Amino acid sequence: MFEVIKTDGRARRGRFTCAHGAVQTPVFMNVGTQGAIKGAVSAHDLRTLGCQIELSNTYHLHLRPGDDVVRTLGGLHRFMGWDGPILTDSGGFQVFSLAGLRKITEEGVTFASHIDGKRIFMGPEESMRIQSNLGSDVAMAFDECVENPAPYEYVKPSCERTLRWLARCKMEHDRLNALPDTVNRQQMLFGINQGGTYPDLRRWHMQEIASLDCDGYAIGGLAVGEETQVMYDIIDAVEPCMPKDKPRYLMGVGTPSNIIESVARGVDFFDCVMPARNARHGKLFTWRGTVNIKNEKYKTDPCPIDPDCGCPTCRSFSRAYLRHLFTAGEMLAMRLAVMHNLWFYNELMARIRQALDAGAYETFRRTWSERLERRA
Ligand SMILES: [Zn+2]
Repeated sequence: MFEVIKTDGRARRGRFTCAHGAVQTPVFMNVGTQGAIKGAVSAHDLRTLGCQIELSNTYHLHLRPGDDVVRTLGGLHRFMGWDGPILTDSGGFQVFSLAGLRKITEEGVTFASHIDGKRIFMGPEESMRIQSNLGSDVAMAFDECVENPAPYEYVKPSCERTLRWLARCKMEHDRLNALPDTVNRQQMLFGINQGGTYPDLRRWHMQEIASLDCDGYAIGGLAVGEETQVMYDIIDAVEPCMPKDKPRYLMGVGTPSNIIESVARGVDFFDCVMPARNARHGKLFTWRGTVNIKNEKYKTDPCPIDPDCGCPTCRSFSRAYLRHLFTAGEMLAMRLAVMHNLWFYNELMARIRQALDAGAYETFRRTWSERLERRA
């Protein structure tokens, strides 16, 4: 299911296998929130862009079109036309960040839909049932994601409850996988580490959830308000407590540099809306640094966004054309920009894996970590 092929320092080169195929790690999951990648990019395009695993959001698909609808249509793979691996988040993050008027109890969370205000209850069992209906390859445990900084007196009982919720998730997940008509009976379950910015809570929580023997473990509740160095410190604190033979997923991270630095700290899976979101605003990643394609200086520039990029956008179109599309408000601007940035992220991960295969990760990190952060 997960095999560490090679290590380089704390960095790991691995292979993850699930019902819909194998994933070479470290990997960046391309985010299709509502079963589509924002910017008019389809599952068909994801193949072209080198995507290995797609991530969709439980909260959004539960509200619209409804996970029962997706199940009726054969599950999310068939619904969105993607036959590769899919991970679904638990809905927890959106419930705590998007939904209005929420009330947390031991049972779960009652909240108001951000679409129509309708009151909805979601707890560990509901989250597992929704993700089972979607039929993803990896389901994420239902947790409370606490924004940083938060007081210790709040974070401690919260992560204790998240631990109790994980035990309930696991029971319900096992029950659903044993039913004969479940969409994907080989669905796996990843537990999520919480504990805010407190190393002692993080380590305690990680040890507790590791004993529940999930299929993989995520570090949640980072990149939610804390300084970048604090995030790295927390990964450093919690990583030694993570099982070595299970995949590790850092949720919602991040910039190319964040990814390079976190791989060095032993992380295997990443996801982030940043490449697609930045692209929709004309902010592009290149091997020479970041570019704002809306800039006046690109008005007559005949070169591709990145001469070193092999993406469909760079192979056919100039900076001047892309800038024109943004200026004219053409939808194609977003599509071409998102395709470039997702290609870049997938290519970044491929180069990270190559460096690990070659036993040269430290050189790769020194060469690129800072350079990719700068403006071109
Ligand atoms: Zn490109």
